[in-house]
Amino acid sequence: MAEYLISGETSYVPVDGLTAPQLLSNGQGLTYNDFLLLPGSIDFTASEVDLTSALTKGITLKTPLVSSPMDTVTEADMAIGMALMGGIGFIHNNCTPEYQAAQVRKVKKYEQGFIQNPITLGPNATVREVFNVKSTHGFSGIPITEDGSANGKLLGLVTSRDVDFLKPKDYSTPISEVMTPLSDLITAYTSVTLAEANDIVSKSKKGKLPIVNENNELVSLIARTDLRKNRDFPLASKDKNKQLLCGAAISTKEDDKIRLELLVEAGVDVIVLDSSQGNSVFQVNMVKYIKQRYPGLQTVGGNVVTAAQAKTLIDAGVDALRVGMGSGSICITQEVMAVGRAQATAVFKVSEYARRFGVPVIADGGMQNVGHLIKALSLGASTVMMGSLLAATTESPGEYFYSDGVRLKKYRGMGSAEVLKQQTCMDRYYSEKGSPIIAQGVSGTVQDKGSVHTFLPYLTAGIQHGCQDVGSKSLSRLRAMMYSGELKFERRSASAQVEGGVHGLYSYEKAFM
Ligand code: IMP
Repeated sequence: MAEYLISGETSYVPVDGLTAPQLLSNGQGLTYNDFLLLPGSIDFTASEVDLTSALTKGITLKTPLVSSPMDTVTEADMAIGMALMGGIGFIHNNCTPEYQAAQVRKVKKYEQGFIQNPITLGPNATVREVFNVKSTHGFSGIPITEDGSANGKLLGLVTSRDVDFLKPKDYSTPISEVMTPLSDLITAYTSVTLAEANDIVSKSKKGKLPIVNENNELVSLIARTDLRKNRDFPLASKDKNKQLLCGAAISTKEDDKIRLELLVEAGVDVIVLDSSQGNSVFQVNMVKYIKQRYPGLQTVGGNVVTAAQAKTLIDAGVDALRVGMGSGSICITQEVMAVGRAQATAVFKVSEYARRFGVPVIADGGMQNVGHLIKALSLGASTVMMGSLLAATTESPGEYFYSDGVRLKKYRGMGSAEVLKQQTCMDRYYSEKGSPIIAQGVSGTVQDKGSVHTFLPYLTAGIQHGCQDVGSKSLSRLRAMMYSGELKFERRSASAQVEGGVHGLYSYEKAFM
């Protein structure tokens, strides 16, 4: 390799920094905090950086962000939020196959502006219950159905106007006496488009438009307030039928072939085989089964951290690899099993091998900040999967609660003792019957981050700025720069890491957005 680069006739620039193989091939595992990228040169704005990237061989995303299949991270609301913003969510499998398939169906059937499972009440519910819904959910336009269910026969609608001036003595009045009955109600059929519905609801006094089928059964609801908030999602991840993309996790157990069938019926686009050590005969058999039974179904294998593990799964036919073992925030795998790999090294080693076969890599776990996302992508990953970063967002499962005045949600490892003791339907950290449980994760709490609709744009803008600093106008260019040696890295000493953080201040406030 040249000692220096000639630039013009009279000046030269010494070679500076390390290439990725130089950084990562000395036998010592590196984490994202152990190195930095060196800056390049900029001739474009950050917003011009194209973040399009492959999730699998057959699916490309406009935003390289993926939510982890964990029961405190991804159910339908998260998967919808992720897909609207151009990423994708994988629905967890710590639930019955029917529940998981229903979550996938909710994502696939999602139509912006249409509330699919509105809160409903039966005709015999009392006015007091309307006030309860208002105080818990913040709205009071409630469809009344014969059996009180979200898909029951529509009987009428109750809004604030119907109950606001009632006296407390009337609170036990049945709703049927105060509601606007179906005969006086404007409704629309399922064939209505969002634009038509918009038009109807803007002229209606009610502010809510129930959508019904030919049997007058409630299908969905449109709210004027939502329409006002309606935004465009130009990056949304969609299939050829314009439905949002959705992933789901299954295990490698025989029983999960039934789960798989239900997920496929629900329209799942991509399956991840959820295992902490993916290089197993069980996973190979499951990959082959999926590929033979549902050839078009994209299948992510993992987790792996070495090229040898990756080879087994690539040979079996996976469409992407999930990389990481022991780097997750809730993870104690390396402590308990003594097996795993530092995440930056794992991402580089597997990506460098898998790219020869056109198999994209999902860097999974250990993302503590936006800088870590940039580093994972600069080492060859095509997308990044997050647990803790997305936990405690509005869209993650679970209720918020306060501790010492801080608003929190629960976040737990899928191999935590808490989950394993439930002994539900997943076996990522499977203990053979009769043997003691070996927990590989912990349970904890994470601070409220607001909605993914504000958090993901912060992450993507951060990635764009990182790419701009190194002089890369797209993620594919970033990878090309890394493999050609143009992208340079530098190891960070312990004191360099201290210098790179905030220091020397008496006090400070760290606000990210
Ligand atoms: P995080 O983004 O650092 O919180 O890591 C999330 C990742 O940790 C997940 O996508 C899984 O790969 C992994 N993970 C989930 N549960 C456990 C566990 O109980 N033990 C070890 N790793 C886990």
